Amino acid sequence: MIYSNFQDIKLSSLGVGTMRLPLIEGSEKDTDIDVAQTEKMFDYAIKNGINYFDTAYAYHSGESENVTGKILSKYPRDNFYLATKFPGYDINNMDKVEEIFEEQLKKCRVDYFDFYLFHNVYEKNVDYYLDEKYGILDYLLKQKENGRIKHLGFSAHGSLEVMKKFLNAYGKYMEFCQIQLNYIDWTFQDAKAKVDLLNELNIPIWVMEPLRGGKLASLSDENTEKLKALRPNENIPSWAFRFLQSIPGVTVVLSGMSNLDQLKDNVHTYEENKPLNDAEFKAITDIAGGMLKTNTLPCTACRYCTSHCPKGIDIPRILELYNEHSFTGGGFIAPMAIAALPADKQPSACIACKSCEAVCPQQIKISEAMAEFSKKLGLKK
Ligand code: SF4
Ligand code: SF4
Repeated sequence: MIYSNFQDIKLSSLGVGTMRLPLIEGSEKDTDIDVAQTEKMFDYAIKNGINYFDTAYAYHSGESENVTGKILSKYPRDNFYLATKFPGYDINNMDKVEEIFEEQLKKCRVDYFDFYLFHNVYEKNVDYYLDEKYGILDYLLKQKENGRIKHLGFSAHGSLEVMKKFLNAYGKYMEFCQIQLNYIDWTFQDAKAKVDLLNELNIPIWVMEPLRGGKLASLSDENTEKLKALRPNENIPSWAFRFLQSIPGVTVVLSGMSNLDQLKDNVHTYEENKPLNDAEFKAITDIAGGMLKTNTLPCTACRYCTSHCPKGIDIPRILELYNEHSFTGGGFIAPMAIAALPADKQPSACIACKSCEAVCPQQIKISEAMAEFSKKLGLKK
């Protein structure tokens, strides 16, 4: 296992994410975690040098913290670093920080968390997180003083602007930041700009979704051939990890492994640090560009259309989310970001006047995309 320096400790560069733990055979209920399988995976991870485990209040509808805590409790506390998160993705939790934090310690069977995050800073919750009346930052800083949190950070699924807003206010307290980063999102979700921002502020980067929910675990035959020609002994998932080994500031990569074979494969990849050279980096980002081209609308965010919309809809932002939704085949990011908008700025507010289409240099059928997106998200007029 390779390790990354973080302050005065060494973290395994690969961490175990516990959002997609194996389920009991035949069950589709996300609370039905297969504890025996999970234990085998955690044991293998620890035996092979992984020392970072990431859970959250929400994962597996609350069961991930229980199972993670139960399994890790058989190990000495200094054998692993445990991370969990304050569930402020739900604004109803904003005034419950103390109650939830205490509950999390009990569920995880620990006296302290090594890493604690503001979970999912995004458009809808950023103002709540920053609102002093809820006292979330104060409470968490106090827990840090008391030794019940060793390191404080945040995760973000929101736009670059939202991240900047959060960092402007709380940046000096943030020791790390977890973002969605992979060779698709490098340009698609503005991940490159987020990486640049965090590097500028000297905030180490934790990565989630390195394989984009498994989408990058296999590629088309044509793309596989291209990569095989460059690195004959590297499998397709490992390209996603090698890409991340090439990005400055990346400290821990979390992979939500659902079975022992995936874990073994990833552990094998992390026996070595083999970042991509320039030609390889270009090849993988070209492949990403090709994948995006065939699966998304070609909006360049030129914004020629926005001043023509009688409803004041932020068309490029909606199309960005439309693309995210189409490329991912659903997921939670687009529905979450659309729900954070006022109803009269959502795609369902479009009246199909087509004024935008008359000026769009890409000739995108914007009104059709708005209608389709509204239908997919179940939005009402
Ligand atoms: S078609 Fe829809 S998005 Fe385009 S200008 Fe008209 S209302 Fe706005
Ligand atoms: S004019 Fe077309 S390409 Fe430009 S932002 Fe609007 S939809 Fe996108």
